[in-house]
Amino acid sequence: MAKVYNFSAGPAVLPHAVLAEAQSEMLDWHGSGMCVMEMSHRGKEFMEIIHDAEHDLRELMAIPANYKVLFLQGGASLQFAMAPLNLLGDKQSFDIVDTGHWSRLAIKEGRRYAKVNVVASSEDRHYSYVPTQDNWQCDPDAAYLHYTSNETIGGLQFDFVPDVDVPLVCDMSSDLLSREIDVSKYGLIYAGAQKNIGPSGLTLVIVREDLLGKARADLPTMLNYQTHADADSMYNTPATYPIYIAGLVFKWMKEQGGVKAMASRNTEKAGLLYHAIDSSNGFYSSHIEAPYRSQMNVVFKLKNEALDDAFLSEAKKNGLVQLKGHRAVGGMRASIYNAMPIEGVKQLVHFMLDFARQRG
Ligand code: PMP
Repeated sequence: MAKVYNFSAGPAVLPHAVLAEAQSEMLDWHGSGMCVMEMSHRGKEFMEIIHDAEHDLRELMAIPANYKVLFLQGGASLQFAMAPLNLLGDKQSFDIVDTGHWSRLAIKEGRRYAKVNVVASSEDRHYSYVPTQDNWQCDPDAAYLHYTSNETIGGLQFDFVPDVDVPLVCDMSSDLLSREIDVSKYGLIYAGAQKNIGPSGLTLVIVREDLLGKARADLPTMLNYQTHADADSMYNTPATYPIYIAGLVFKWMKEQGGVKAMASRNTEKAGLLYHAIDSSNGFYSSHIEAPYRSQMNVVFKLKNEALDDAFLSEAKKNGLVQLKGHRAVGGMRASIYNAMPIEGVKQLVHFMLDFARQRG
């Protein structure tokens, strides 16, 4: 066994068992004599792979029958454009909650195609909280409300599902499958795969069928959800290998007890880390208000920034890598997606306590 404990925000750690299985099937998938990468996407072998992946995802998330699951490309970033281009219909505007970096990018891209109404923002306190719904200024003519359930860079996570009269659109790139959700509350859910799902190059879209067919007429064919829904994600060549790995991840999750089991492990892992931060007498700190602390991306600072480099290099010597915070916020970030074992988190906590003892 290699390896290190990899706390990267994405592309991120994958379950060891999944990588080992992919390795064992690399040269010959199930007696086909081919690597999955070499298969025609329309051949019966790959059709089985994508069918199983969708089936398992539907089971894991209890996705109702009136939702389409689409395996797309272009990253979550392309969804910042595809969502308004497909869902506005005859409306001009959509609502959005501003909770940090990724919602701001969704706002910026959305403004190219729509009037974007920011219903609330937590910028006033450095994105340390999620604005509660009582003060949202919703536009009665909005086509939908968009929010980012987990801000990967800021480490800020919604602890509630907005209750609004318009369809909910959610960027779940960094917390899809990490906790149970009721899909029927959403119009559209999207996520780049490279955190909890699989390799980069695949974007998952889950869309309620009645929201399809509203795209502007001049929309490029490839940007229309309907195109991909009608063709079962086979209008053109999908990201075959990432879909295969995602399928293995879904199977692994089912073996582990599904999303419910993931969620309780994630709560435990995040709890260990935040406890270490909070009980460090200020050596480490999190600026996020307790209810909104991300269970996926634990963002923290050292009181003495001059120790940042030493923290990172000593962590690396201990096999704990990719802990540097995003350049936009500085400090540290430990991303602890589903595939991060609790042992990795325990080792990190152990290291943090040691480091604080020696340098505090
Ligand atoms: N939204 C969120 C919440 C993200 O974390 C990311 C990527 N880190 C994106 C959108 C952009 O995703 P992509 O790189 O797949 O375009």
